[in-house]
Amino acid sequence: MSLSLYINWREWLRHIRNMENKYPDYVPVIKGNGYGFGNRYLADTIYREGKEEIAVGTLEEARQLGKEYTFRQMIVLTPVMTELDVSDLVSGRIYTVGSREQLQYLVTSFDRILSDDRRSWAKTGAPFKLNILLKCQSSMKRYGFSLEDATNIQQWIHDAETDRVHIEIKGLSIHFPKEGLSFSQKKQAIGEWIETLRKSGFSCCRMYVSHLSSQQYRDICKKWPSVHFSIRLGTDLWLYDKSFIETKSTVLDIKKIKRGERFGYKQFRSLKSGYLVYVSGGTANGVGLEAPVFPRSWKERLKLTVFWGLSLFKLQLSPFTYKGKRFWYAEPPHMQTTVLFFPSKATLPEVGEELLVQLRMTTATFDRKVEMGKEMIPYERESEQQEEKGKVQHVIS
Ligand SMILES: *Cc1c(COP(=O)(O)O)cnc(C)c1O
Repeated sequence: MSLSLYINWREWLRHIRNMENKYPDYVPVIKGNGYGFGNRYLADTIYREGKEEIAVGTLEEARQLGKEYTFRQMIVLTPVMTELDVSDLVSGRIYTVGSREQLQYLVTSFDRILSDDRRSWAKTGAPFKLNILLKCQSSMKRYGFSLEDATNIQQWIHDAETDRVHIEIKGLSIHFPKEGLSFSQKKQAIGEWIETLRKSGFSCCRMYVSHLSSQQYRDICKKWPSVHFSIRLGTDLWLYDKSFIETKSTVLDIKKIKRGERFGYKQFRSLKSGYLVYVSGGTANGVGLEAPVFPRSWKERLKLTVFWGLSLFKLQLSPFTYKGKRFWYAEPPHMQTTVLFFPSKATLPEVGEELLVQLRMTTATFDRKVEMGKEMIPYERESEQQEEKGKVQHVIS
């Protein structure tokens, strides 16, 4: 029995298709835990929808998805400063570069690979084309070139290039904070970059942005018609609406317990009489990570430290609910199981019954996915491959 993700397939896919109207040419972001769905699942869905360009978080994710899918372009969002190898001599991969060091690292790595591996170098004779996006620093203060760097970038690229490695700039990339920056400030940042690069003789033709509304996206497209803007969409694409998904856990066992009786990994004494309800899903699924608390003061921080230090987890409300009521953790979640405490008077679920569980989708992983209503919308590319009629649920893993 497993932790299950139920996907309201029809609504979910309708939303994904609608995003193409709201943000023409958007780039789906597929990274980390795949927003709870898993990276392969998202890649599979979007590939079948005919998207040819995706963005992944890391080099490792690009390698993994590159083995299974042939997207025309795969943007790696995080700068690469770890070892590259022969298998990375692929076309269609675009590296995000936000400093001279990051640029130099890539060129040096590929140059070394090509000089060590004379066969693949000799096969084509042509230099390897290293595709990059120039990452423009925003007020996020994450990695990225500063505006002062902008005038030097072309020189740096020229200096870095070798006989074996040529650099091609595929565009600019800017990542805005989700909150705390007005649209006019975002527009100003975009404008400054376009202008500064233009002045230094570099004509910007493509720019990747993030965290803009559809209206704002249209606004910038209109303001700079010579620039081809694409927005990167993660959360707003996959998790836009709560109704797209339901997350459920299965009751595995129920044990009666008396007040003062010891139980569990930690051999706590039960504070009250009641029931221990064992449900599927544990730390490996992201249970226990659902409530990120950002302590705003030292006092709060201290409280948190004490909380974790003394294992007061058992006194926490869990994210599991039954008949609309949240239940308490009996002890900290195990790897794949969680123990809940139900008081004597509570209505008990049946073994095998499902409980709703609220998880943070960017830290959750599910053992099983159930697609609901899928047979009603065949994939466009596979319309001949109709699903079995009359079957409502489609279990895929
Ligand atoms: C993760 C990421 C996104 C997508 O972010 P969401 O908030 O999930 O939409 C966009 N751009 C960059 C550079 C990212 O790293």
